[in-house]
Amino acid sequence: MEEMQTRTPHIVVLPYPGQGHINPLLQFAKRLASKGVKATVATTHYTVKSIQAAGIAVEPISDGFDQGGFTQAQNEDSYLKSFKDNGAKTLSQLIQKYRDTSLPITCIIYDSFLPWALDVAQQHGILGASFFTNSAAVCAIFCHIHNGALALPVNVEDDEPLVLPGLPPLKACDVPGFIKAPESYPAYLAMKLSQFSNLEKADFVFANSFQELEGKEAKSVAKSWPAKLVGPMVPSYYLDGRIEGDKGYGASLWKPLSGHCTKWLATKPPRSVAYISFGSMVELTSKQTEEIAYALMRSNVQFLWVLRDTERHKLPTQFVDATEHRGLVVSWCNQLEVLANGAVGCFVTHCGWNSTVEGLSLGVPMVAIPQWSDQMTDAKFIEEVWGVGVRCREDEFGVVKSEEFLFCLKEVMEGKKSEVVRRNARKWRDLAKGAVGGEGSSDKCIDEFVTRLKIAENRREKE
Ligand code: UDP
Repeated sequence: MEEMQTRTPHIVVLPYPGQGHINPLLQFAKRLASKGVKATVATTHYTVKSIQAAGIAVEPISDGFDQGGFTQAQNEDSYLKSFKDNGAKTLSQLIQKYRDTSLPITCIIYDSFLPWALDVAQQHGILGASFFTNSAAVCAIFCHIHNGALALPVNVEDDEPLVLPGLPPLKACDVPGFIKAPESYPAYLAMKLSQFSNLEKADFVFANSFQELEGKEAKSVAKSWPAKLVGPMVPSYYLDGRIEGDKGYGASLWKPLSGHCTKWLATKPPRSVAYISFGSMVELTSKQTEEIAYALMRSNVQFLWVLRDTERHKLPTQFVDATEHRGLVVSWCNQLEVLANGAVGCFVTHCGWNSTVEGLSLGVPMVAIPQWSDQMTDAKFIEEVWGVGVRCREDEFGVVKSEEFLFCLKEVMEGKKSEVVRRNARKWRDLAKGAVGGEGSSDKCIDEFVTRLKIAENRREKE
């Protein structure tokens, strides 16, 4: 056994600057800090002020769009290119800045969307760890494409599902649209595949999932995707409670109307409210927004709907007047706080991976309305594999009609399936808590990582 170090290991986490990426990476930083590691978040100038987490340092790097971030870029392609060029340079400067201090950087934990960060780490002779923010099942699909085992375009029909080792058969509606039609989102597809471009050189690979949830899926591609499952990356308060004061992620790109939501929810009976959110990026079509709105207008359901200001014009004009006695529409909320509120009976979600993991971790039954990309696969697992929700079926134009939405909502809140869904939700919540709790599957992986960091830092100090 090597003698343990004197110098504290220092990790830098580097998220892609979107809400669904900052949250899990920042949470990982907090977990590591709670185990005696110095943790710093490196994020773009535009997002630096949105991140404030106790005990975590924040350092700016540049994506080349310091005033407005992604919105300033012409398109996804030019944004990623600019982030790569400017990000590599400024990340390098950051590593340099700490080099001769008492806390040199030991390891860069980079968002798998930013594989160039590994090259930067290695140029400086420090460790590099890739962190995947998608489910293991989704990572497995892209891994097979990268390996050439699955050719693009992927042909999948409902009577001829996609069969991959370790995964349930996937129907056409269960796979990301752009692998069936690669020309539809070429830049995004290229980015998803670039996650694997240099992965064999990474010192560590992590994913925001846990052994009990997706151990089988992860194992099926372990040779080319040797990820340690360290999730769920949800603030400690909602899981093991071991990190004092860790009640929120500590990052918000929009201002949450927390007090307003909590006050309103306090007036509602237990499990009576449907919480509806489509995350930070999805823009529903006007037609889809109307169908959801009509369903809420026609029913007696109480609801809390997050609709960003830029989306609000899609609501029918009479909507707010017709529903204000039992519904609340807000531009952004503290989602965890809402999901943990006893008045909430179900989570209507777009099935972004963080929302899925949060719903599972807090044991909230879900109504799945996936929109694109990984959300389709996440929805499949929510309904069919974990049994924690019901998925709304789309019509031939890709729209979930109001009758369908209402049917699924009632099914989850009070219908035939509600009891079994609630039971499963409780089961997965307990398993999630177990995974991050002391000696849990994720906790052990994190401890192993911390030990490896200490050994690396110890060795370096002696050199
Ligand atoms: N979120 C939030 N308030 C809201 C809506 C979402 O804090 O009103 C958070 C949510 O808790 C999650 C993240 O935003 O952590 C969204 O990530 P996800 O992967 O679910 O979806 P994306 O926004 O990436 O599509």
